[in-house]
Amino acid sequence: MAPIRVLVSGAYGRMGREVVKAVSAQPDMELVGAVDKAGVGKDACRTAGVEKTGVMISPDLSETISKTNPQVMVDFTTPLAVMENIRLAAEAGVAGVIGTTGLTKENLEEIARLAAKAGRAFLVAPNFAIGAILMMRFAAEAARFFPEVEIIELHHDKKIDAPSGTALKTVEAINSGRAGQQPPAKPSPLEKVKGARGGELSGVHIHSVRLPGLVAHQEVIFGGMGQTLTIRHDSLDRSSFMPGVLLAIRKVVKEKGFFNGLEAFLS
Ligand code: NAP
Repeated sequence: MAPIRVLVSGAYGRMGREVVKAVSAQPDMELVGAVDKAGVGKDACRTAGVEKTGVMISPDLSETISKTNPQVMVDFTTPLAVMENIRLAAEAGVAGVIGTTGLTKENLEEIARLAAKAGRAFLVAPNFAIGAILMMRFAAEAARFFPEVEIIELHHDKKIDAPSGTALKTVEAINSGRAGQQPPAKPSPLEKVKGARGGELSGVHIHSVRLPGLVAHQEVIFGGMGQTLTIRHDSLDRSSFMPGVLLAIRKVVKEKGFFNGLEAFLS
């Protein structure tokens, strides 16, 4: 079988470099294109710390798609850039593995329409770490028994969106576990510092920490009478996301339509 032809968008970024490294090491994948606003003209693999391959970072996604004919675009860019990248990929008949976070509900609806029109598959996943998917699954289970829950998510200080896509997806999981049961109403907080109780979504308070030294971490804390239950996941470095990204690349070339969350590809 011919290797899967992969283009990495955001190839000069922290996640993009890790994807370049991971894809280059797979016998069933070929890195054919690398696009970024930064690092233009540099060798994508050398930048990622692997042997030089001759795939240079280009600033132009359309041109790179037409020159390299990829089957899959992996995108780890920014919430401001990702939708245009997805539109270009879909128009060219390229499938997508989208890791960029900060997408809105309307963005996801548009991606579903683009995937259907293109007859290709697009997976959008705010977290490719298998442990994080399990954290969300366990949170859904715990929510059946513990209606009161708060989330603390902790990320590096360069992350621009808050709360994290993982925290938002965890709230969805908690809601599915609650199956319509609502947590008891809490008194309005008398916040002496605005935001001290975090943001609130579906009765779940979310606290976003941004500090140098962190990668991606989350605690889901359930409280009940005389007890708490904490589910915690830590991505200690960006390699934690790569098994999920590689799995998604292999699946997305065989599928059609829109997939929301890596769990859609995990049986
Ligand atoms: P990063 O280091 O800032 O990398 C993003 C790269 O994309 C930068 O080099 C940036 O260039 C480039 N870029 C900006 N606009 C572009 C465009 N139009 N076309 C091509 N490249 C463009 O960020 P990161 O830490 O790698 O994170 C990237 C995204 O992945 C974020 O949304 C983050 O939340 C998400 N993420 C997801 C997961 C997951 O498992 N799904 C895990 C970690 C991170 P400039 O610096 O010049 O703007």
